[in-house]
Amino acid sequence: MEILIVLIPIVIIAVLFLKGFDQIAGRGPKQVSDGIRRATESGDRIPCPMCAERILPQAKICPFCKSQLKT
Ligand SMILES: [Zn+2]
Repeated sequence: MEILIVLIPIVIIAVLFLKGFDQIAGRGPKQVSDGIRRATESGDRIPCPMCAERILPQAKICPFCKSQLKT
């Protein structure tokens, strides 16, 4: 009977710890991937008329296909 009194709080703490760890583990990579997505799919990039790769609108030469672009 004494072992249950000792075990129950340990189990509760373990469950709480694992839930917290899952939240941290689930949140961390999501934030990272969101940041990468925001950087790569940022709306201020336009598709190149020649190769359709996303490039900056200020670009005069496409970095992908080296085409000269109209400003
Ligand atoms: Zn291009």
